[in-house]
Amino acid sequence: MDLGIRGKRALICASSKGLGLGCAEALAAAGVDLVMNARGAEALEAEAMRLRSEHGVGVQIVACDVTSPGGQAQVIDAAQGVDILVTNAGGPPPGLWSDWDREDFIKALDGNMLTPIAFMKALLPGMMDKGWGRVVNITSQSVRAPIAVLGLSNAARTGLTGYVAGTARQVAPSGVTINNLLPGIHATDRADALDGGVAAQKGVSIDEARAERAATIPARRYGTRDEFGAACAFLCSQHAGFIVGQNILLDGGATNLTM
Ligand code: NAP
Repeated sequence: MDLGIRGKRALICASSKGLGLGCAEALAAAGVDLVMNARGAEALEAEAMRLRSEHGVGVQIVACDVTSPGGQAQVIDAAQGVDILVTNAGGPPPGLWSDWDREDFIKALDGNMLTPIAFMKALLPGMMDKGWGRVVNITSQSVRAPIAVLGLSNAARTGLTGYVAGTARQVAPSGVTINNLLPGIHATDRADALDGGVAAQKGVSIDEARAERAATIPARRYGTRDEFGAACAFLCSQHAGFIVGQNILLDGGATNLTM
């Protein structure tokens, strides 16, 4: 399917690996020029070079922490005039409800709620002026059903979801859509880190921890970054203009919900 976005320009935050990279790659395959970001310059430059050569698109990189005010200013400066914004950042650490203090919550809110809001606030006006734009926020299945050990994520991402629900309906008249993609478990470094924690806690191997987790998913496997990227690219396509303010679970059926 031709996504109809060849020649557009996209910012994909936190995109040298994992789900962000999946989104960058799928957009590059659709002919979209990219601004990519991550803290580590080496992996970012390597992936940017690969996407330039494999897809023939322009790729600009900005290596910085997207959750810091200075990093946000650098990325927003490079991304002025983009047609597409994909927000993403690392997730908060796991723990117990009784572990966290105010500072832990402030950090989680900064990273997973206020950072995407800052990007939307900065880049939505340019899209609205042009009468076309797409925003996809990478959130989590924890927004639909809480994950006990990820209380910081449950809290911060649900706050973002509320903001998006109201904002998406205010920018839609200008031809701009905002939607959230809610990943369940995908085979990325983040999943490895979480599985490593479970393996250490239970005294089993990481493969055993992974197999145990996969068995709880109706699809009986983890998602891939390519599948995730394809869903993101569709939401950014010309075909998705009537999808507004939605929260789309990509979880292999893991969240047991009727709707
Ligand atoms: P990942 O494989 O660890 O990749 C994270 C990417 O983001 C890397 O490119 C990393 O590069 C970059 N990054 C992290 N923190 C950053 C920051 N502060 N500023 C700029 N770049 C940053 O993670 P992932 O699995 O793709 O997860 C992406 C998001 O989805 C996370 O918020 C995660 O919690 C959420 N999520 C993931 C899953 C899953 O199963 N994978 C499920 C639910 C939710 P650098 O380290 O070089 O900065």
